[in-house]
Amino acid sequence: MVDMSHYEKEENLARTEELVGVCRARGIATEAEPGRIEGGEDGVKDTAELQGMMTTPEEVDEFVGTGIDFLAPAFGNVHGDYHGVENIHLDYDRLASIHEKSKSKVQTVLHGTNEFTPEIMAKCIERGVTRINVNKLVLHKYNKYVAENTGKVPLTELMEKGTGLIQELVEEWMDSIGSSGKA
Ligand SMILES: [Zn+2]
Repeated sequence: MVDMSHYEKEENLARTEELVGVCRARGIATEAEPGRIEGGEDGVKDTAELQGMMTTPEEVDEFVGTGIDFLAPAFGNVHGDYHGVENIHLDYDRLASIHEKSKSKVQTVLHGTNEFTPEIMAKCIERGVTRINVNKLVLHKYNKYVAENTGKVPLTELMEKGTGLIQELVEEWMDSIGSSGKA
């Protein structure tokens, strides 16, 4: 992963295009995430602030133009915790229009899914998302178990039970989002 957001837009795009070319020549797929939104310790920023950081139609054209394979738009999804489902405010219309605009060239990817419900996932999938990045949705049972049992049970048991807990949640989510049996 390369973060080039600290460059001016023109330089960011030029460097992205160069890197995409290097990767493509080696059979490596690339993904861009214009408008990445970080969730702070205090949870989600206010809605007005979020609006200003979302991926714009102009950015979609610019980044798709660099030759990327995957596009992860920011439409209210936040990296980190939302601190409650009531704090998740997604601009579904924006997601749908970004997908419509770019679907002939890229796959639409969903980031920032901590605390998402199956209903929220379904709405994103309906609007064109074909890949979903997950973190805590599949790790929260593992994290809790390891935190509570490290040093108390044998390491082999910790690892086996821990990975079992991840598998449980992965299977649940795969059923929920309709990806089971399709790999
Ligand atoms: Zn991301």
